[in-house]
Amino acid sequence: AEVWQSVPLAPPDSIFKLTAAYKADTFEKKVNLGVGAYRDDNDKPWVLPVVKKATQILLNDESLDHEYLPITGLAEFTSAAAKLILGPDSPAIKEDRTVSVQTISGTGANHLGALFLSRFYHWNGSPKIYLSNPTWANHHAIFRNVGIEPVDYPYYDPKTIGLDFNGFIDALKNAVDRSVFLLHACAHNPTGVDPTQEQWKAIAEVIKAKGHYAFFDCAYQGFASGDLDRDAWAVRHFVEQGIPLLVCQSFAKNAGLYGERVGALHLVSVDQDTAKRVKSQMSVLQRSEISNPPAHGARLVSLILNDAGLFEEWKRDIRTMAERIKEMRRELRRLLAEELETPGNWDHIERQIGMFSFTGLNGEQCRLLTEEGHIYLTGNGRISMAGLNSRNVRYVAEQIDRVVR
Ligand code: PLP
Repeated sequence: AEVWQSVPLAPPDSIFKLTAAYKADTFEKKVNLGVGAYRDDNDKPWVLPVVKKATQILLNDESLDHEYLPITGLAEFTSAAAKLILGPDSPAIKEDRTVSVQTISGTGANHLGALFLSRFYHWNGSPKIYLSNPTWANHHAIFRNVGIEPVDYPYYDPKTIGLDFNGFIDALKNAVDRSVFLLHACAHNPTGVDPTQEQWKAIAEVIKAKGHYAFFDCAYQGFASGDLDRDAWAVRHFVEQGIPLLVCQSFAKNAGLYGERVGALHLVSVDQDTAKRVKSQMSVLQRSEISNPPAHGARLVSLILNDAGLFEEWKRDIRTMAERIKEMRRELRRLLAEELETPGNWDHIERQIGMFSFTGLNGEQCRLLTEEGHIYLTGNGRISMAGLNSRNVRYVAEQIDRVVR
């Protein structure tokens, strides 16, 4: 037999499958609520005006060439990106103990962080990672790929369609000391449920007392609340508390640079000397994986972060996206709770944050929405708020109303 004939057929990615089914549907009012990318009110991808401007600047720059970037990436990009997430006055930056490496967007940052843990995190025997239940599905695969076993911690409470705060705290307390916990910095995917600042403080206290390691994934800074600093609050609080951590950063959503694959991994260490050694090992890993990260997206983001005028324009563009999403939350809740008087409580739609909302709809209701309503969503009841717009939100509300009754 030929060498690959025994390779089993893998199932298609569930989101990809959803998009394919949506595209094949000829119904006029069909709606795609699976997509994890921003859409404007006309259901179109949105190139941020500030990105258009930065692209033009790059096009006119005769000094640019296509040489390799350094192994750890474009320095102007990584240092500005570190300030963006950690804060311009962060002690971790001032004391020169932050290691920043440019990565293949947030996915690459998660991978490099996971790979680094698998090589160098040697506290508890074979390494494990605690992941929120549920989490971004890719987290499981990314950690398994490098031999780290994912373990669930309680996060989402279906009874309240909110945070299982006590379950979360108990899991932190019951885990052996120096465990590694993955935390969504803001706009938790897939639930849209974030801890409050008071809850974050309590979480940080237990993590600190137990000596746990915080593996932050930050894919939605600014996109969640519309405010870059507010969305970085948890990460900065943990740094202030002296909790050992790293942060995976993506510019896919907040800069609309999905396909450019621009991101970074920032590891905050205790001192400059440790940072130097960590960075040397990160470089070795990066070299064998991708040699050098891609230049274009990093140049765009670097221009935006390092120019006061462009930075202000970016913040305005971010607010445009966040406000449209919040407007859709308000409208969907209003239609369900007030106009259609759909059975149940729909406050969570407005309370949740970021790209996604966990509606609380069950598998059967999701199936009916798709099969009878031509509304595409994942079977766990997650909807992408970006798929809603002023023309389809009423139709979606009416269909939800129909399957709930
Ligand atoms: N982490 C989370 C929680 C996400 O939701 C995503 C994207 O959906 C990512 C990381 C990584 O995205 P990207 O690799 O496009 O930056």
